[in-house]
Amino acid sequence: MNEVLSTRDMLKRAQKCGYAVPAFNIHNLETLQVVVETANEMRSPVILAGTPSTIEYAEGENIVSMAKVAASKYNIPIAVHLDHFENIDDIKHYIDIGFKSAMIDASHENFEDNIKKVKEVVDYAHRYDATVEAELGRLGGQEDDLVVDEKDAMYTNPDSAKEFVEITGVDSLAVAIGTAHGLYKGEPKLDFERLKEIRAKVEVPLVLHGASDVPDDLVKKAISLGICKVNVATDLKIPFSDAVKKYFKENPEANDPRKYMTPGKEAMKKIVQHKIKVCGSENRY
Ligand SMILES: [Zn+2]
Repeated sequence: MNEVLSTRDMLKRAQKCGYAVPAFNIHNLETLQVVVETANEMRSPVILAGTPSTIEYAEGENIVSMAKVAASKYNIPIAVHLDHFENIDDIKHYIDIGFKSAMIDASHENFEDNIKKVKEVVDYAHRYDATVEAELGRLGGQEDDLVVDEKDAMYTNPDSAKEFVEITGVDSLAVAIGTAHGLYKGEPKLDFERLKEIRAKVEVPLVLHGASDVPDDLVKKAISLGICKVNVATDLKIPFSDAVKKYFKENPEANDPRKYMTPGKEAMKKIVQHKIKVCGSENRY
């Protein structure tokens, strides 16, 4: 493989074989290392995802460079993905510097404007062999700075999804079936009947956002019903931070990042391993 890939082939293969590719939100060198090293050990395809504020924080060029090093070092498919981008010019810029996959999130727009924005990104991305994910319907909760009132969260309509995918030519579709970003206030209830209907009408791979905190058996069921990409963000941040906090509590004088980052990486690794197992993407390459 040896280079950073789009998500096209890895998601098609996951769709055909009935598993999902995990997309892990990374923030820096350490979190990226944990994800690629663990995916390599488990022979899993993997998507490295960054939200707009992460890409700004770490700088897109750094993320792409680190992903390229990982792709040349490990013989597994590695994609580098822009997560929840809303600005089309930003997406074009980051595709220009080497990102191969982008989510244009215009799900807060009306149907027509969502289509218009997604189509513009698809037309651009496909010229550079990059793939595009869009979202139809809305999730509750919080992803970065984007707050959606949980009461306003709307589920994906299967017929609209079919029309949306056909008109836009989008490569994958994030669906709203009851998950929420961040942590849940109550027990999540997923609308599996709706997912089945969407899958029957839509050919492209389907994506599940907001799966942190959703019980594993529900995520597995969603995968069995056609989800091919599962996003993992909040579930990684908490154990990493908790382990670092614990280290500082036990070692208040610590000042060596190589030492205090290590327990964070170890805690995060366990979650990455677990999520790969839940996705069923282990030993696929
Ligand atoms: Zn999301």
